[in-house]
Amino acid sequence: MTTAFITHPDCAKHDMGAHHPECPQRLAAIEDQLIASGISQYLMRCDAPLATDEQLARVHPIEYVNAIRDAAPDEGLVHLDPDTAMNPFSLRAALRAAGAAVLGVDLVMRGEADSAFCAVRPPGHHACRARPMGFCIFNNVAVAARHAIEAHGVERVAIVDFDVHHGNGTEDIFEGDPQVLMVSIFQHPFYPYSGTENPAANMVNIPLPAGSGGKQLREAVSRHWLPALDEFRPELLLFSAGFDAHAEDGMAMMRFVEDDYAWVTARMREVADRDAKGRMVSVLEGGYSLSALGRSVARHIRVLARLDA
Ligand SMILES: [Zn+2]
Repeated sequence: MTTAFITHPDCAKHDMGAHHPECPQRLAAIEDQLIASGISQYLMRCDAPLATDEQLARVHPIEYVNAIRDAAPDEGLVHLDPDTAMNPFSLRAALRAAGAAVLGVDLVMRGEADSAFCAVRPPGHHACRARPMGFCIFNNVAVAARHAIEAHGVERVAIVDFDVHHGNGTEDIFEGDPQVLMVSIFQHPFYPYSGTENPAANMVNIPLPAGSGGKQLREAVSRHWLPALDEFRPELLLFSAGFDAHAEDGMAMMRFVEDDYAWVTARMREVADRDAKGRMVSVLEGGYSLSALGRSVARHIRVLARLDA
């Protein structure tokens, strides 16, 4: 069993300024915990390539891609929205982040890896078709899903989003698309205040109140995600893997712990094993408590890589 760990030094050069929670140190915290937990040696390390215009244009209008290229500064910071900025390295980081997700799909679809984790930033699930938002520039997991469908002939892709925020960008891109099923939990009411008004049938959005923990996660997954996934029978599972619902994360007010991330990953692995030949590609989204992020990602990868037995 091979699990790819896809990242790139460019992703740590994207920096939105001192005190921004979506900071370069997030990736170092993940690397530290992979070493400390002893799983680093079992992973196939891969450099993230740059996503191509063709890959991005399956999700984002090419005019949007070009506008992002044009916005990239030669020095200093340019704000795309109140929360999202670009420095001179951000364009390459964003292209690497989407490119990592594409490579992850290529590796698992070609059988060169069983699963993949993309340790990338900027994150992606708030990026809409033609709008950057909430620390996100390109919707990495959406680019990966479209790549699986267009380049590998996958007919059904499931996107599993356990970030504490609703993945409004991913919903914007795929609502009503019969080839994609999105299952998600998110704190509600909370940023970006979406996901609860008449979602499309392929959007299994489960809002959870502030203070929810592992019990509420397990109920949501068992009652809502699993029946939908059983019916959909995905050929590939993609994770929008955000870890900001952790009890130690100050970004939100949820109570998940490492065991909860391991549990949900294990349930999704059962779905992947049954329907998708075990194919799973996980892409980092949020997670802002550096210590909790590192520990949670290590547990998530341990299950992806089947090192948890
Ligand atoms: Zn988040």
